[in-house]
Amino acid sequence: MVSSLESAVGERRHLVTEIPGPNSRALHERRLAAVSSGLTVGFPVYIDRAEGAILVDVDGNRLLDMGSGIAVTSVGHAVPAVVEAVSNQVAHFTHTCFMVTPYEGYVEVCEELNSLTPGTHDKRTALFNSGAEAIENAVKVARLATGRSAVVVFEHAYHGRTNLTMALTAKNMPYKDRFGPFAPEVYRVPMSYPFRDGLSGAEAAARAISIIETDVGSRNVAALLIEPIQGEGGFVVPADGFLPALSRWTSDNGVVFIADEIQSGFGRTGQWFAVEHEGVVPDVVTTAKGLAGGMPLAGVTGRVELMNAVHEGGLGGTYGGNPVAAAAALATIATLRDRDLLARARALGEIMLASLHQLQRDVTIIGDVRGRGAMVALELVEPGSKTPHPRAAKAVVAYCQQQGVVALACGTDGNVIRLLPPLVITDEQLADGLGVLGAAVRSVQ
Ligand SMILES: *Cc1c(COP(=O)(O)O)cnc(C)c1O
Repeated sequence: MVSSLESAVGERRHLVTEIPGPNSRALHERRLAAVSSGLTVGFPVYIDRAEGAILVDVDGNRLLDMGSGIAVTSVGHAVPAVVEAVSNQVAHFTHTCFMVTPYEGYVEVCEELNSLTPGTHDKRTALFNSGAEAIENAVKVARLATGRSAVVVFEHAYHGRTNLTMALTAKNMPYKDRFGPFAPEVYRVPMSYPFRDGLSGAEAAARAISIIETDVGSRNVAALLIEPIQGEGGFVVPADGFLPALSRWTSDNGVVFIADEIQSGFGRTGQWFAVEHEGVVPDVVTTAKGLAGGMPLAGVTGRVELMNAVHEGGLGGTYGGNPVAAAAALATIATLRDRDLLARARALGEIMLASLHQLQRDVTIIGDVRGRGAMVALELVEPGSKTPHPRAAKAVVAYCQQQGVVALACGTDGNVIRLLPPLVITDEQLADGLGVLGAAVRSVQ
């Protein structure tokens, strides 16, 4: 194993064994004998250490990370500021339970979230451990504050894997199949998906609102829950005007607008939150993933009158807002600010979109290239059609893996390749990753 290597990880992708190598294969055997087979095997190389955008596996291969552990390590792996904050906090104390004896880090993360999320209104925040838990709590707050029960969600939505969030998530396989019964009072309406529906934002919003009013009735709706750019569902960027029209409808009808910014937030799209691209101010914002540099932490931030409608003791959990995770979040936020990583996300987006549009002109299987900032995707289709081509997406991911590039697929039909590089990736590393991706697409074509 390479743990004894004290030298820097190095900046370049470099393979020294076949992929996966012998040590990874041995670990994989142990995994099969010990770990539930219910967990996806994405790319069975076992990681020993990581730095910036480079992962080093147990065979000494250096892999290029174009996924950031699903939009989590946006500030990069092993960033000194985060390492130091976490180490320091671990040495001080690791847990007291905020509801038993509180600590400053929790309060400070809430202050940051209140000031970073859109809108200058008075806000309050509560912290949790995972995205799904944040969504569950956002829905609890909205139901209690409005005295209503219905929750409106969208086609292709992904909000998690707990019982309520499975109901909120659109896709059956693999997330929901045979795991029911699901929570009631969840209503699904069409998303704006410009590549597939050809509707303007206003038209798509009118379509969704008309279904809500007919099938549910606005006075029964506690919350409208939406990912401003969908993540697992295929990096669907709604047409301009869709989110603002929905936001206006929610405020006219006493409905809580919950923006699920768990994947799209924290600088990923070149703004702190993806709704900012359209000037939308949500009533509640959920955060997780990129918030804490790899430590598990999630937030629900909302209008004071919503968040404080809850009776004392109505929200909480043993570990929520854990001091080590809170320290990591504060260092992550400082790093995003100090290194101007939002500007970097915008620059990465320009490089990726230019390269992928060029690739689209050269091949026949790229139906759509879309995204904002460092959240960019390719939708693969059968040549000359809009028919989803999941087999091509699988082949592209497999090709990238063989070359030591971590790329992720997504989409209701599994035909979308998404790029979520750490925002600290260098121009050379990004060019390398895009080169491999281009070769992968050409090879399947
Ligand atoms: C990942 C994700 C979730 C669920 O977060 P977990 O931490 O995996 O529970 C919810 N919403 C969106 C948009 C996500 O991308």
